[in-house]
Amino acid sequence: MVDLENDLCSGCGACSNICPQCAIEMKEDEKGFLKPNVDGEQCTDCHACKNICPLNYNEVKNFNTPLILSAINNNEQIRLKSSSGGLFYLFSKNILSENGVVFGCVWDENMQTKHIATQSLTELEKMFCSKYVQSHTKNTFKEVREFLLAGKKVLYSGTPCQIAGLKSFLRKEYDNLYLIDLICHGVPSRKTFEMFKGEICKEKNITEKIININMRSKITDWGKPFTTVVSTENNEYVIPFEQNSFLESFLHNFNIGDSCINCKFNSLPRYGDITVGDFCGVDEFDKELNDKKGTSILLINSEKGKNLFEDIKNDCLIREIPFDSAIKFNQNVVTSSKPNLFRDKFFKNILSGKSLKESMALSRNNYPSVLKMLFKMQPQFVKDIIKRFI
Ligand SMILES: Cc1cc2nc3c(=O)[nH]c(=O)nc-3n(C[C@H](O)[C@H](O)[C@H](O)COP(=O)(O)OP(=O)(O)OC[C@H]3O[C@@H](n4cnc5c(N)ncnc54)[C@H](O)[C@@H]3O)c2cc1C
Repeated sequence: MVDLENDLCSGCGACSNICPQCAIEMKEDEKGFLKPNVDGEQCTDCHACKNICPLNYNEVKNFNTPLILSAINNNEQIRLKSSSGGLFYLFSKNILSENGVVFGCVWDENMQTKHIATQSLTELEKMFCSKYVQSHTKNTFKEVREFLLAGKKVLYSGTPCQIAGLKSFLRKEYDNLYLIDLICHGVPSRKTFEMFKGEICKEKNITEKIININMRSKITDWGKPFTTVVSTENNEYVIPFEQNSFLESFLHNFNIGDSCINCKFNSLPRYGDITVGDFCGVDEFDKELNDKKGTSILLINSEKGKNLFEDIKNDCLIREIPFDSAIKFNQNVVTSSKPNLFRDKFFKNILSGKSLKESMALSRNNYPSVLKMLFKMQPQFVKDIIKRFI
């Protein structure tokens, strides 16, 4: 039986999609990250899975120096429903208008993340917004190939590892395939997200079924996200960032995967034809570009990306950003995230049965008090530098 164990495995699902025996199922490991599980009875040792792994694939022909833009969708309603500038919608609408298919991440009936295909604008809305949890790609890589061979235009969006997985799975360039990868500082574990849902239901006394969670609700300011939880009774529960142990553990790199902190896919050239992210540092670059409703950063990484962008450029407000300014605040374009110093401790607490809130409290308070005191004594600019470094 093939051994697929590898700390760097991102759980993209390419191996599961390629297996001729359907012997590989993506299952959560103890920390809650999807990993391949091989059924020894069915495995014929053909090694197709090992050969297809994106960790062994290096043939990215995209630009080493992409064109970088700040971008805002002119349609404010769409932008407010999206996580940053609402650019994903514009690219997708363009593909759908040409009778194409769009693949992206949605919540399933159990409020877990998965990738699906859609050919309708109404269903596209379910893909809006960042769901900060590792998404299950299911059989979508196989579906993509079928649509491509049928001559359909296909747009697939996902994290860089998922896009690398799909590229590696397909093994050849298709003119009718468009890839969008996200700037990604890591994906949180599915286990910690389940714990979060449980804790929120208890705290807010939610007894109905949850049908939507928006982790980047733009109630006030795009930069100060609220999480909103909607139930079957149409009740909306608002969770401010200060009470959100899940988002805190994500943004401070506690609950992201081992593969994320050693991510090979956050690099140039990028794997997607287009890369989309939040324009972090927009205020430092030019305050005028930040109306508090969401500003995206776009990287155009290939000729195909250029063509796709040409089709939508009149529907958004754009401005070119010099490479260095863009990278300064968006390091994940070129490198993987640093783990929180207390990430191991955090997962140890989670695995020992402590709640998410408790695990965060124990990890957050782990700096020795003398260090905390020294930190407090520093002027603000030194504090800022230390914070960024940590
Ligand atoms: C796990 C994760 C980490 C991210 N980290 C950063 C970061 O560090 N810096 C940064 O600048 N931007 C990051 N982003 C991207 C950012 O949050 C926005 O998704 C991006 O700017 C696109 O915004 P939009 O307004 O164009 O479209 P939106 O409508 O907000 O974007 C939706 C798109 O995101 C995809 N998506 C949503 N959830 C997932 C998921 N779990 N897995 C895969 N794809 C998903 C959908 O398929 C769709 O394509 C991250 C996104 C995710 C999902």
